[in-house]
Amino acid sequence: MDSRDVRRMLESMAATAHSAADEARGRMQSASQTISDKYDEAKLNLMLARVRGEQERVFADMGRTLFLMNTGNYPDDEAHPTAQQTIDRLLIAAEQKQQEIDRLLAKMHAVSGAVVCPFCGHRCEEDARFCAECGAKLAKGE
Ligand SMILES: [Zn+2]
Repeated sequence: MDSRDVRRMLESMAATAHSAADEARGRMQSASQTISDKYDEAKLNLMLARVRGEQERVFADMGRTLFLMNTGNYPDDEAHPTAQQTIDRLLIAAEQKQQEIDRLLAKMHAVSGAVVCPFCGHRCEEDARFCAECGAKLAKGE
């Protein structure tokens, strides 16, 4: 596994991310209907912190996988999933966490009117189109 392989894999990740998003969306649809309306902002903040932490661990796993590939240390045997399989699994997991975050943020907006960046958690102006902290596009401004 050399850096050319890593580059090729990164190129295929865009396509994988797209199908991962579709798959995660399908799985989330039923779950999103079960959440209760009773959560106040403090509870929502706790839940957001937990899900963000879980997503950060997924991102860390992705980084570690890419690093192991790039240094030729990713395990290359039958006992382990391939690097591509691992990355695919992590992309789906990250997408699921993002959809949980988006769902919680929508809930928070309904409860308190807060507009929070889905990517960095910065509390934004009500009419902002982009996050003042990280620059991400805010869905509400579309
Ligand atoms: Zn942000």
